[in-house]
Amino acid sequence: MALEEKREKRPPVTPMMIEEEAALRNGSRGLTPGPWAEAAGPRPRTTERHIAVHKRLVLGFAVSILALLAVTMIAVLLSVRFEECGAAADGPPRASGNGSLSGAARQPPGAGQPPGQPEEEARGGEAAEEEEEEEEEWQRRQELPPWARPRLPRHLRPLHYNLMLSAFMENFTFSGEVNVQLEVRNASRYIVLHAHRMHIEAVRVAEDKLAGGVRVARTFFYPQTQVFVVVLNRSLEVQRSYNLKIIYNALIENELLGFFRSSYVLHGERRFLAVTQFSPTHARKAFPCFDEPIYKATFKISIRHQATYLSLSNMPVETSVFEEDGWVTDHFSQTPLMSTYYLAWAVCNFTYRETVTKSGVVVRLYARPDAIRRGSGDYALNITRSLIEFYEDYFKVPYSLPKLDLLAVPKHPYAAMENWGLSVFVEQRILLDPSISSILYLLDVTMVIVHELCHQWFGDLVTPVWWEDVWLKEGFAHYFEFVGTDYLYPGWNMEKQRFLTDVLHEVMLLDGLASSHPVSQEVQQATDIDRVFDWIAYKKGAALIRMLANFMGHSVFQMGLQDYLTIHKYGNAARNDLWNTLSKALKRVGKSVNIQEVMDQWTLQMGYPVITILGNETTDNIIVISQERFVYDSDAKPKDPSRGDNSYLWQIPLTIAVGNTSHISSEAIIWVSNKSEHHRIPAFEEAGWLLGNINQTGYFRVNYDIRNWRLLINQLTRNHEVISVSNRAGLIDDAFNLARAGYLPQNIPLEIIRYLSEEKDFLPWHAASRALYPLDKLLDRTENYNIFNEYILRQVASMYLKLGWPMNNLNKSLVQASYQHEELRREVIMLACSFGNKHCHQQAATLISDWISSNRNRIPLNVRDIVYCTGVSLMDEDVWEFIWMKFHSTTAVSEKKILLEALTCSDDRNLLNRLLNLSLNSEVVLDQDAIDVIIHVARNPHGRDLAWKFFREKWKILNARYGEALFMNSKLVSGVTEFLNTEGELRELKNFIKSYEGGAAVSFSRAVETVEANVRWQRLYKEELFHWLRKSLTH
Ligand SMILES: [Zn+2]
Repeated sequence: MALEEKREKRPPVTPMMIEEEAALRNGSRGLTPGPWAEAAGPRPRTTERHIAVHKRLVLGFAVSILALLAVTMIAVLLSVRFEECGAAADGPPRASGNGSLSGAARQPPGAGQPPGQPEEEARGGEAAEEEEEEEEEWQRRQELPPWARPRLPRHLRPLHYNLMLSAFMENFTFSGEVNVQLEVRNASRYIVLHAHRMHIEAVRVAEDKLAGGVRVARTFFYPQTQVFVVVLNRSLEVQRSYNLKIIYNALIENELLGFFRSSYVLHGERRFLAVTQFSPTHARKAFPCFDEPIYKATFKISIRHQATYLSLSNMPVETSVFEEDGWVTDHFSQTPLMSTYYLAWAVCNFTYRETVTKSGVVVRLYARPDAIRRGSGDYALNITRSLIEFYEDYFKVPYSLPKLDLLAVPKHPYAAMENWGLSVFVEQRILLDPSISSILYLLDVTMVIVHELCHQWFGDLVTPVWWEDVWLKEGFAHYFEFVGTDYLYPGWNMEKQRFLTDVLHEVMLLDGLASSHPVSQEVQQATDIDRVFDWIAYKKGAALIRMLANFMGHSVFQMGLQDYLTIHKYGNAARNDLWNTLSKALKRVGKSVNIQEVMDQWTLQMGYPVITILGNETTDNIIVISQERFVYDSDAKPKDPSRGDNSYLWQIPLTIAVGNTSHISSEAIIWVSNKSEHHRIPAFEEAGWLLGNINQTGYFRVNYDIRNWRLLINQLTRNHEVISVSNRAGLIDDAFNLARAGYLPQNIPLEIIRYLSEEKDFLPWHAASRALYPLDKLLDRTENYNIFNEYILRQVASMYLKLGWPMNNLNKSLVQASYQHEELRREVIMLACSFGNKHCHQQAATLISDWISSNRNRIPLNVRDIVYCTGVSLMDEDVWEFIWMKFHSTTAVSEKKILLEALTCSDDRNLLNRLLNLSLNSEVVLDQDAIDVIIHVARNPHGRDLAWKFFREKWKILNARYGEALFMNSKLVSGVTEFLNTEGELRELKNFIKSYEGGAAVSFSRAVETVEANVRWQRLYKEELFHWLRKSLTH
């Protein structure tokens, strides 16, 4: 599963406006209101349209009621027939009572019974008594009844599912019949399996292959654990196999989980599609099943739908049976052994394009017909073919299924989901129009596809035993985003370079909080499971895997992975299975490292170490290396009070090199496992410097004595190329963060970035830009902000002049463009424009004016977001309206997104408020984009308080909308709060948490710690920083 990721932050627009720009703004008022002026602004909805919509709704409602009634009648009829046949198999029919065959299952109120279903009849007194007796029995045994336990009881195992579905797209309901073949491991009278928000019509249990049925005493839902319980009259016997048949119906939901619907407009007409999102715990909303990853089974799915639609599932269609009334049933081939969470199906009227890999895998990309016609899916299709070939070769395990469909849907809770053979992507992460997409957008699309394809092996073929190790699959998929992209674009150096800024630096920000958590986290309740899908699992997981690959050596690591996948294919594996296989691979090449022992410290402990290397006070080339846990706020309360920060220890593979003005030694590896250790460095000269964590392959920070920092700064200034590109980026990130946490004087990072005027590589600039961003946000509302601003502008000026602006590259293929050079230029332009370089501002304004007057967008693709944002922030309201109008009229998803984000750059608080209010209107802003609007307004110093206020006022609505897709909620909470930094805002945050009504508790505790650290930094270090800046600027 890929989470929504913003690979690059929006330029931090400054509140400063230089005089000339004020003129510019006034000047732009004179713009003639072109043909766009009328169309701009929120278009009033005419009364007629209102009425039409209203009529349609009423009509739709009536139709759905009728259809529901029809469905219910059919279902009732079916269940009657079913009961007859069941009863026949069970011997002579008995007088109908509560005991015989269970009819509609009792569903407690609020358990999500579809509306329109008949309320269940009152239970007979007999059953209630039975139930009480049973509960007392469990109490006497001092045990939780099997349905009340957080995990399914292990006495049954599903072997095979036959699932027959009918999808009614006209009223968004579906009915299903599931037949599960069960193996009994321990005798029991209970069948407990997951089922949630559905109406169960009938249940039957039969002994497989034999005619005899097993009588069902009663059935009930237990919503606390989202299970359905079938109580039998007699025990199921060990090592026999039984068939459980359940007939049910449910809604095709209007939310993004389970089996849900979404829509798009084609030729002015709204069209609907229905698709699934089961990971991690939502398959139970679509069919009764054993919804834990360990219960792998085979699945045979059939979907009945109107012939105007097509249906898709993990496997190809085997046969289609057409009925006379315009319905068709697609029978799909049987799947291999798999877990429920990556099972999938869809009903839509998309079209597709197709390609075939060398090994014969048919790859299709399905999307809305207009996108397919435009060729927007071709890029994804082509790289998918190459990537399947890459993974097959890298893992030495062929892709397991005959086909892979990629499905581009307009709405999805995540960027994408790796369903085996039917991966689903939100359109913005898979469709690409080469003529209007930036490199950054191309990179996003590429990496999401690389990620989901990796899961076809890591996750789908070999599945984690339980969600605590979700990082195993997500960490690998995230790491391989970089390895796989390197395969597609060998010159881009993603794994060696971009990984640092986008993964390592990013997650160390999060994991440096005392409220962080270990990458392997215990989870029990279904409601906790969403929580494990966070950046710690993804990014720390990936960073640990990269560290492991580096200390093992890449070829041994690859061999180990091949063994791991071969041994565990079609099964489940836990982290220790991986460690054991990797240890064995190392042994084969004559190395002995107990990988489990090393990695347990990194996966079971939260946080990471900062290593301090002291070199200058010792003799005989002896250095002192010590480790401690890195935290931003040393005052923050430890999450686990039983252990202080002092008890954290790691086995750290520290690579170290010594250098002098012209040369750096080859690195040596030192395993640091104690608090403090002495080591002899043989080639250490008097004037030499030390550098730790070579190429930043390790997941930790390195600090030095001040003398060594000075030597490193000198080296960077004189000849930075002696130090590798990755280490230059690493030094910048470490220095900024060490200073932010108070481990290092505030001036050191600012002195380091002085060398950037000579830096021609993208990565160090990118690292600096990212590290400056939070510092900028800490300062952007302070009165001395302009001193900081001025200092940064000075560092950027000469490179900005040297590089200039890109030419309009409308006709140039993205892939041909020199990635490094274009990205560097983009980064420098972004810094220049956002910190107020006059030329940059003028250039942006000219480009926007040209667009408006000619109505032709000649702005180079790679800097469009910067130009739009700068234009909106500097120019007047007309420009905002123009961008707003373009946002409505464009159909290209990449363009839509950056236009929307540009609107948040305004410094007009009325416009920002208007935008915030519009963001919750799903017809204007897609649900998943609304969060970005709010977060981006919060990043704007003029809008921070507005977004924060809006967030608090609308929390109920937001929490209801995003509550279940917990990742979105935590993204929202952190995005809105992370740059609050005054005592007053901290108080507001704490008061809000006291008064709000639940949800996202973890995110809020992280928010409090972040804001506390911000406030603390302001109190302790802000003046020190300004003092140094003032001194430095006068020299
Ligand atoms: Zn994933």
